[in-house]
Formats: sequence, structure tokens, C-alpha cells
Amino acid sequence: MAKRRIQNLLFVPISLLLLSGGIAGLIRAPLCSKNSIRWKTSEGRIFVADILDSTAAGAGIRAGDALLEMDDEPVTRGTDVDFLFESRESGRTIPLLVERGDAEYRLSLVLVPKFKNWFILLNGLLGVLFWAVGFFVFLKKPEVRAARIFGWGTVAIAFTILMVRPGFPYSGHTAEFLLPVVFHLTYPLIPAFILAFFLLYPDEKSVTRKYRLLPAALFLPALIFAALFTATYLPAIRDRSLESFAKYGKIYNFFRAYFILYVSIAIGSLIHSYRCSESRESRRRIQWILWGLSFGMAPFLFLWYLPISLGLKPLIPEEMNYLFLLFTPPAFLFSILKYHALDIEVILNRSIVYAILTGLIVSVYLILTGLAGHKLWMAARKPGEWFTIGFTLAAAVLFNPLRRRVQTFVDRHFYKIRYNYRMAIMEFSNAVTSAGSREGLIGMFMDRVHSAVPTDKMALFLSQPPGHVFEVAGCRGIHPDESKAVEKDCEIELAQIAKRRKATLAKMNRAEMKGIDVLPPGSCMDKLGIELLIPALLQKRVAGFLGMGRKLSGDRFFSEDLGLLIPMAEQAVAALERFRLQEAVLIEKAEKTKLEDLNRLKTEFLSHVSHELRSPLTAITWSTGNLLDGIPEKSSPVVRQVIAQIDECGRRLDRMIGNLLDITKIEADRIEIQPDPLNVSDEIQGALSVLRPLAEEKKVRFQVKAPPDLKVLADHDAFRTILTNLIENAVKYSPPGSPVGIEAAAPDKANAGMIEFSIRDRGSGIPKEKQNVIFEKFERLKSGSSAKEKGLGLGLYIVRKLIELQSGRIRVESEPGKGSVFHFKLPVSETVRRQPGG
Ligand code: ADP
Repeated sequence: MAKRRIQNLLFVPISLLLLSGGIAGLIRAPLCSKNSIRWKTSEGRIFVADILDSTAAGAGIRAGDALLEMDDEPVTRGTDVDFLFESRESGRTIPLLVERGDAEYRLSLVLVPKFKNWFILLNGLLGVLFWAVGFFVFLKKPEVRAARIFGWGTVAIAFTILMVRPGFPYSGHTAEFLLPVVFHLTYPLIPAFILAFFLLYPDEKSVTRKYRLLPAALFLPALIFAALFTATYLPAIRDRSLESFAKYGKIYNFFRAYFILYVSIAIGSLIHSYRCSESRESRRRIQWILWGLSFGMAPFLFLWYLPISLGLKPLIPEEMNYLFLLFTPPAFLFSILKYHALDIEVILNRSIVYAILTGLIVSVYLILTGLAGHKLWMAARKPGEWFTIGFTLAAAVLFNPLRRRVQTFVDRHFYKIRYNYRMAIMEFSNAVTSAGSREGLIGMFMDRVHSAVPTDKMALFLSQPPGHVFEVAGCRGIHPDESKAVEKDCEIELAQIAKRRKATLAKMNRAEMKGIDVLPPGSCMDKLGIELLIPALLQKRVAGFLGMGRKLSGDRFFSEDLGLLIPMAEQAVAALERFRLQEAVLIEKAEKTKLEDLNRLKTEFLSHVSHELRSPLTAITWSTGNLLDGIPEKSSPVVRQVIAQIDECGRRLDRMIGNLLDITKIEADRIEIQPDPLNVSDEIQGALSVLRPLAEEKKVRFQVKAPPDLKVLADHDAFRTILTNLIENAVKYSPPGSPVGIEAAAPDKANAGMIEFSIRDRGSGIPKEKQNVIFEKFERLKSGSSAKEKGLGLGLYIVRKLIELQSGRIRVESEPGKGSVFHFKLPVSETVRRQPGG
């Protein structure tokens, strides 16, 4: 803990010192002179293999010359030549002694600067870029070990890049020796930093978890190299000792091997992480780094380093390597920023990223155009101003569109407008329409949402049917026990949210947008790990919620996420509601057919039973009828009365069974109506004769009023049933001794072509609100004196049906306590109507 605090305290001053030291080195870089001669050794002598610069050719040096002395010092090793070039400042003229054939020649060579100004600038840019990235990452996450190593390592790399060269040549001031010492300390540390970093990033490897001290141990060889470098390089530059420089060169060869070994292990570890990594994000992060490394390092390794180590001419100039290296820090930036692994986006907000990237692209562009201009100028041997002006103008014209492109690129890649939103929604719509089941749809929805915005948890809450409580329809990353535990509270909470708000809610600081409500801390959603709650509206009311957990990328939620998730959630909720309605219709249909089947069964049963009952009953009533008619004298009045009662009960039973049979026929649509001209008076008398025993029992008097020749066009059985039922009711519901009137009126103007029948009683009457109801099946009055009478509630229903089947109408006029009149109309028979005229 304390160690870390010291490290944090030291980081800022040390990194700032390194930056300034690096810049001091950068400023000295133009003094370095270029090695104009490529040498080869043969039989202990040094020969000129190649002339690398036109100034050397101009001085009269030729390939094949043997080098004897440079700057008045005898040269005996190849490294002596390198040392002499590196340790003399550019612009100076040095004497050379060469042997050509048998003769010796004294030549003088003007030293040219090793580095072009644009190259030094490029170096500066690259170094500062590295430094800034390392500095910010460290400051942002000092508590993360990988971030600390990244910070130190990147600052060290930045310093080495900025220094350009260890710092030749020296005027001899002691202070000037400081820079090469620091350089030789930081340079060997770089591979150790790289390896330590990749052992901890993107995920800590098991080795370092097991051996906590391993990353620190990696630095041991680096420190040894640092000590050896200082011990050889310092005397070399202080005493201009060729011996020391030659030793330094030997150590450097070992150092190279160490460098390559460490970096290879680091890359191996990175590839290993890539293959083993489970999350897509960490794979993408590694991909970016691999791209950056391969793009930045491959030319250096394959086009420059490899040919040199094979003793060939490099395929690209050394400076070119740096051009490619420029791509490495942005790749790291991509990796770190895009996935916000170290969460530095708060400091490096969008505008800084735009600026860095645009600046970078413009510099690369200018450098390339500058180079092209120079080359063209050389080729055309004409003043280059026109080219320069042309390229500058082109740069000016291109800058704005380039800036815009960079901006959209950055927005899309860094800030997650990474999905083509319309496409994603369209694809989802297609998938929704082809979903076959509710479960399939929910699963597909979850998958699509997860691939668009991956989060650790996800839940879909639905209120189905709308207005019902919210229930978990599907979830990911949430254990069923977890959701069960807060189920009741969630219902209440979501119902409240749905009632009050239609806007998205997010946990504090979890969404990067305005107009969002805050999820109350400690809520059920909080307990479930939901950080964003999106309401899905259906016909303006909240029908569902999509709950999202923490983004796997570590990001906050952006408005682009909502732009995609809201329509997806609403489509899903609408489709699920459609599924529910379809299911409800199917269930209703199934229930209806089931009911119809039951009804049919019941009707068949009734019909069957009624038939079976009727046969013995007919035998009984036939026998009682015979008894009453045939042997009256022989029986006593009591016997006669008993027989009459049996007879009446039998007939009543017969009428009831008749009604049941009629009902079954009506229900089954099997009733057959055969209209015949029927004499109204005769039919009324027929009906009355059946009911007479009942009327006598109740002492009811019938008052019939019907024109004698009036004929109705009706089905005989049906007409009888109508009359019997209505008159029987009138008798049943009348007080004893009261009259029951039966009237039939010939057609008049008001009733053209129709006979109006009225059955009048002075009974209990029917309340107004019940007057329509009594014509329905099984409807009986439940209060009043009529409620006491026994019955099935079928008579009036059958009557209405039979009348309607014959194009007639029935209605009732009634006043409770005063009595009722049932009016019905049936067509008059044509023959009767024609009679008065004919
Ligand atoms: P049921 O007479 O077998 O009960 P109905 O369908 O014939 O069945 O009559 C339905 C109900 O209408 C009766 O229960 C009775 O309450 C009422 N009702 C029918 N006719 C009259 C009437 N003439 N006076 C009073 N109430 C009547």
C-alpha cells in the first residue's frame, strides 16, 4: 500500500523529468553525423564496402579502399569506424588516410547530419504521443497493476524515442553524461516492462498470480544490462576510448538477444491470452494490439533488421521504420480507449481523441507529401516551391473532410455507434415475424440484444395482459433464485415506475446522456444488478421493461444504445402481445367448440330421455282418460277426483316433456314448420279442452273472443304449443276465480295480413325490467307470487321461437299486481282474407 503510494508520488516528477530529458536529447539530434561508409573486414584490415552518401563520393573515397586512419586515429576494428562517425558532430570536416593499390591517400570528409529535420519532428511526435498515453493511463488507474506498468513502460519508451540517439557528441561537461546514463538505464527496462505488462493484461496470467514477484524479477537482467552499458559506454564517450566502445558493442549483441527473447515471450503471452480469452471484448482488445504491433514492427523486423543480420542491404531506410512505428501507439490507444479497459475516457474525451487522430493523420500526410514533393523536385530538377504550394493547398482543402471523417470514425469506433442501427432493427423485425413461439421469440430477442449491447445481466419484464403485474418473461445472467427472492417487490416497484414514468431509468453515472431518470439506489433492480431500465410502450402504456446490467466493455450506456434498444424492446413486446392474443383466441375457440359439443350432447340426452319418458306417460294418460270417460257411474266422487288428479298431472308432465322435446329440436335446428290454414276458434277450443282440468282446479273462467271463420296460417303443432303455453301460464299465474281472456282480432289497418292474439289475465303481473328477459331460456321471476309456481322457464322461450319461425312477433304488457296481456301476431290465411271480397 505504502509502496504504491510512493510509486504514485514518484511517477509524475520522474515522467516529467524523462519528458524534458527526452526533448533535450531531441534538440541535440541534428548534431549527430551520418556514417557515410559501409565497411567490411578482411584479413584484419578494414575496407570500404559501400559508399552511402554523395559527400563521401565527392571526397574521393572509393569502394575497395582500405581505411587506415580517421580523424588522425588509426582504425583497426569495424566498430571503430562507427564510433568515429557517431562521436563527431555533423558539419565538421575530418581527415582520412586510405590505401588504394600501393599508394596512400589523404582525403577529407565533411560530416553530414544523420537525421533529416522531418524525421526528428516525427520522432518528437511519436515520443510525445507515447508519453501522453502512458501518463494518462497511470494517473487514471494507479490502483491497477497493469496500468502502472503500462504507464512506466510507455514513459520509458517515449524517453528512448525522444532521445533519438544516446546523446553523442559530448562537449565534455559532466551534466551531459547524465542523458546517456539515463538512456542506458531506461532502454534495457523496456522489454521487461513490455513482458510484465502482457503477463497482466488484458487478464492476469496464472503464472503471475502464482508467483507475485515474477514481474519484478523480470527486471533483474535489465538492471544488469543497464550497469554493463553504463560501465562501457561512459568511458567510451568520456575518454573517447575505442576499446570501451568495442566492449559496449559486444554487450549490445547480447542485449539484442535479450530484447528479442523478452518481446517474443510477451507476444506469445498475448497470443495465448487471445486464444484462451472467453470474452469477445478482450479478444478485440488483443486484436488491436496485435495489429498495431505487427503493423508497426513488421517492416522493422523483416525489411530492415532481417536483411542487416543476414549481411544484406536493408530494404527500407532506417527512418521508414519510425513511420510504421507511428501506428503502434494509436493501436494501443484503440485497444485501451475503444474498450475503455482502463477507463481513461473521462480524461481523454472525444475532442482530445479527435485532435490526436486528426493531428496524426495530417502529420503523416504532410510528411508523405513533403517527401513526394522532394522526390519530384529531384526528378524534375526544378524548384520545388510549386509542388510544396500545391501539396499545402491540397492539405488545406482536404483537412476539413478529413477531420469530419475522423470524427465519424472516432464516433463509430470509440463511442459505439458501431452497429448499423437501421440494419440491426430491420434484421430484428424480420426475425420477429418469423418467430414461431413465445419462448422462441424471447430467446431470439435476448440473443440479439446481447450481441448488440453485451451486458453481464439482462431481464425482460412483461405485463400481460396489459395492466397486469410485471413478471420476468426472460433473463440472462440472473439466477432464478435471485429473481424469485425479489419477485413481489419487483412487481410493486415496476408497477409504480410504469405508472409514473415512460422514460428510461439508469443507475447514477451509468448512462452518458441527458433526460434520463435515476434508478433509486437500493431498489429491486439494483439488487438484480440492473443498471438501465428501458420501458417498452404499447399503445402509450408501459407493457414491458428491458433491464440491462453492466456493459461487458465497461462503458456507460450511450444514446445510440437506446436508439437501438427501445425499438427492439417495443417490437418484441408488441409481438409477444400478438402471440398472447392469438393464444387467447385459440383457447376461446377451443372452449367454444367444447361447449358446443357439450351442448349438443346435452340436447341429444334430453331428446332421448324425453322420448323415453313420453311413451309410458302416454299410456298412463290414455288409461286415466279412459277411466274418467268410460266408467263414471261406477266410481265414487273421491275415486273420480283422484283419477282426475292423476290424469291432470300426467298431462302436465306431458306438456313439460313436450316443451323439452321442442327445446331440443329448436336448439338442434331440427324443428319443421308446415303452415296450414287453421280455424282459430277451433284451435283455441282444442287448447282449452286440454287445460280445462287445470282451470277447474283453479276455478278460472275462460272468456274467448274470436271471429268464427278466422283462419290463421300456421303449423298445427306449433300453434297448439303456443296457445297451450300462454294459456297455461295465464291460468297458473292468476289468482283462483279470476277470468282469463283469449282474443283473436282479424287483420286491420294497423295489422295488415296479421291476426293479433291476446291472452289476458289478472295475475301477479311482470315487472317492466323483466318483460324482455322472461322470453329467454330458463328465465323465471324470482320474486312475487308467480315465483311460487313450479316450472322450467322454457315455455315462453319456445313460444317466442315458434312465433318467430312463422314470421310473427310476441310482446307482453303488464303491470305488477294488475295482470298481464301477451300479444302475438301470426299471418292470416289467404283463403280467409279473400273470402269477404270473393
Ligand atoms: P315457467 O312458466 O315454466 O316458469 P315460462 O317461460 O312459461 O316458464 O315463463 C317464464 C316466467 O315468466 C315464469 O316463471 C313467470 O315468472 C313469468 N310469467 C309467465 N307468464 C306469466 C303471467 N301470465 N303472469 C305472470 N308471470 C308470468
